[in-house]
Amino acid sequence: MERLKKPDWLKIQFAATGEYSTVKQIVDNHHLHTICTSGRCPNISDCWSRGTATFMILGEICTRSCKFCNTLTGRPLAPSKDEPQHVATSIKLMKLQHAVITSVDRDDLPDLGAAHWVDTIKAIKEENPNTTLETLIPDFQGKKELIAQIIAAKPEIISHNMETVRRLTPKVRSAAKYDISLSVLHQIAESGLIAKSGIMVGLGETREEVFETMDDLMKVGCSILTIGQYLQPSRKNMEVTAYITPEQFEEYRLVGLQKGFREVESAPLVRSSYHAEKHIFKNNK
Ligand code: SF4
Ligand code: SF4
Repeated sequence: MERLKKPDWLKIQFAATGEYSTVKQIVDNHHLHTICTSGRCPNISDCWSRGTATFMILGEICTRSCKFCNTLTGRPLAPSKDEPQHVATSIKLMKLQHAVITSVDRDDLPDLGAAHWVDTIKAIKEENPNTTLETLIPDFQGKKELIAQIIAAKPEIISHNMETVRRLTPKVRSAAKYDISLSVLHQIAESGLIAKSGIMVGLGETREEVFETMDDLMKVGCSILTIGQYLQPSRKNMEVTAYITPEQFEEYRLVGLQKGFREVESAPLVRSSYHAEKHIFKNNK
């Protein structure tokens, strides 16, 4: 298949400020693993210049191998006992107002990594009582008792990404199931915390399928939705099927709001953690 040419609206200028260098230095000095770098996120100069970053915990090796994701797959190392404190201290050094934490999937661990997640949330909150926290969690295989542990640790937002529409889920995500992801979001919303999800477009989905996913998310109580263009992070990942126009993204945003989401971020460069701090501040008003 002939490679699609990247449209102009996805060509961004790298504009690093002093704040960017500070964040980069802390990330480098502390050997932190951020999804900003491993995911080759196009927003890195913007986010790091504003002092926000997304940390990846539980190591750099995932037990799953989703076709869109650039994370290494294989047998992960044992979780580092120092990591929760390490991330908490780094957030303090970075003076972050808002932090996003995510992890690889740890299907190899008996608790799928839940206790490590809880330790990390607690350490961050203890060290940074004024920093708000979004946790972008894996599906924990839909195990309610494990998801309940994250809910009990009370991050301000818990997000779990659907990543794509129902039909494409088996092709795009290696082990996750569409309905299990919906049940994770349902459990979060039922607890009273803010449930947030995100999808990528440009993977072969139709408009109608995007609308269906919105309906499914609304039914389970998800209140914040992000929609962004899929960009192939490396040649081994699946190819982009279409570059969705900014006008189409705007239609998704408006339809999402009409359907009842409290917030919809929909634009080519939107990622689930992009401008995440905005959601907290709006919801706290
Ligand atoms: Fe990092 Fe998220 Fe910003 Fe990308 S959008 S640079 S992953 S914080
Ligand atoms: Fe990437 Fe899939 Fe692993 Fe998440 S579960 S880190 S998307 S390979």
